[in-house]
Amino acid sequence: MKKILVVEDETAIRNNLQIMLRVEGYEVFTAANGLAGRIAALEHQPDLIISDIMMPELDGFELLAALRNETLTMHTPVILLTARTERQDFRQGMALGADDYIPKPFEHQDLLNAVRTQLDKAERHRQTTARLAAQAQRLLHYDKLTGLPNQNLLKERLQVAMASARSQNLRLAVILIGLDGFSRINDSLGRARGDELLSQAAQRLRHHLEQTFIVGVHDSLARPESDVFALLISELADPEYVAERALILSELFSQPYMTPAGEQFVGASLGISLYPGDGDDAEALLTSAGTALRAAKSAGGGQTRFYEQAMNVEASERLALHNDLFRALERGEISLFYQPQIALHSGQVVGFEALMRWQHSTRGFVSPARFIPIAESGGHILQLGAWAIDEACRQLAEWREHGYAPVRVAVNLSARQFLQPGLTDCVAAALAQYKIPPACLELEITEGTAMQNGEGTIDILHKLKQLGVKLALDDFGTGYSSLAYIKRFPLDVLKIDQAFVRNLLTDPGDAAIVRAVVALANSFGMSVIAEGVELPEQLDFLNALDCAEYQGFLFSKPLPAHEAARFLFKEIAR
Ligand code: C2E
Ligand code: MG
Ligand code: MG
Repeated sequence: MKKILVVEDETAIRNNLQIMLRVEGYEVFTAANGLAGRIAALEHQPDLIISDIMMPELDGFELLAALRNETLTMHTPVILLTARTERQDFRQGMALGADDYIPKPFEHQDLLNAVRTQLDKAERHRQTTARLAAQAQRLLHYDKLTGLPNQNLLKERLQVAMASARSQNLRLAVILIGLDGFSRINDSLGRARGDELLSQAAQRLRHHLEQTFIVGVHDSLARPESDVFALLISELADPEYVAERALILSELFSQPYMTPAGEQFVGASLGISLYPGDGDDAEALLTSAGTALRAAKSAGGGQTRFYEQAMNVEASERLALHNDLFRALERGEISLFYQPQIALHSGQVVGFEALMRWQHSTRGFVSPARFIPIAESGGHILQLGAWAIDEACRQLAEWREHGYAPVRVAVNLSARQFLQPGLTDCVAAALAQYKIPPACLELEITEGTAMQNGEGTIDILHKLKQLGVKLALDDFGTGYSSLAYIKRFPLDVLKIDQAFVRNLLTDPGDAAIVRAVVALANSFGMSVIAEGVELPEQLDFLNALDCAEYQGFLFSKPLPAHEAARFLFKEIAR
């Protein structure tokens, strides 16, 4: 039943209106002045208000203005009723947002018509609003590109599925499927092609779901993030089943996509969380799956990881270190240690490798193997890396000032630092500032970094080479070098990874690799440094080859600069 509020100070008219409207089937409330009308409007929230203009307390215009100011009555239709039929009044009422204006005395039928018109109009407005709300709801819950549920709807469904799993004592699983290197595709092929590929991926997943026979009622597919899909498996009796499904999903993404640019391979990494165990609500379960997905991605992509509690600890540790790294440099917690590099034929120290050390205020010593990757992903690396180059050059200058013979210092470059356009300038500036002969500075990049960038690497190495610095390939043997590339890199030194040196005496395979690498390097005209030499027998083995230099605990650990200088001094004195 529609509700109508009548605001009228003349009792006779008020009663008349009330009876007339009740007869028509409306529910009617009344108020004897504007102020009472305003209160009644808020209290009963009528579908329509009929109000007189000339009233004590608050007149009709003031009432109208007040109603339009209130969220609850902002859109309620108002019909003004008055004996004053001057054009001026009419305009004023309309300007304030009156919906109709009926002069007194009025014909019953005229008034009823006006009431109906206004109520119909309001109803149409309500329907439009409802439709728009539904539309917004859809936009809020579905992804436009693939038509799949988005993050919001996924969460809602997950919540329902979790409640049902709880009551039936069943498990459920969330599998997040992240496309490997999707941003690279987007960058190189353009957004449109990227979208096309995502649609194809969604299609594959839909098809997969249709082909799967055992389906829980809450099973569903979603696209919670741009390059991440989610599969919810409900009513799970055996968690083993999830591993099988994951395998099938991985398979699904090992197939190439057909694009106008040709076949395109985009693999997927999978992160899985299980309920109960990995989270008590939808949010937590998704976060766990996300953590597992990140672990799968950082293992190199194309992998599947189940969430483990330890991942949380690891993630928060990383975050803490990440935060502390911001201040580490300015607090003077970072320094360079120097590990001697020795020429095999003479036994002389011919150089040092500069290795970063972080003396953390509460954690003590943090290994560079731990904090360099964090700096690399957290963006501190450029600052740290530039500092290392500067600091090594400063140290070289200091040693020279103290009268030591010039020595070579090798500085490690991280992957991002290597790709940074300003790298050459940074190196040149440090050399110039401390007046260092360029050949005294060696820059190390790992085999992995070199291979990641193929042709680009050749360019960058040539630019560095032009400065006159020496270039070394670090951790050789750990990446999958294409020998064709290595030959085209303008390298001076190849560093054999410690893993091979470690097993030199026990593993004939590793011994063979070391022998082959030394031969290869020499044939390319490069010098070889064996890393991680700990035993005299390892040194003997290397001595029998044409290996030029070595470094390792056998001779010395990395040392603070003043201790390394004592070393150098001894070498010179000998
Ligand atoms: P890396 O460049 O391969 O450095 C050699 C690592 O082997 C050093 O570890 C060194 O202390 C260690 N080592 C040397 N001799 C021996 C030995 O006889 N036995 C064993 N077991 N280990 C030996 P460290 O100092 O912990 O550095 C680890 C890695 O962190 C380095 O590997 C390098 O990749 C990275 N790193 C260190 N300093 C920097 C830096 O300033 N910048 C960048 N980008 N990376 C750095
Ligand atoms: Mg190194
Ligand atoms: Mg190394």
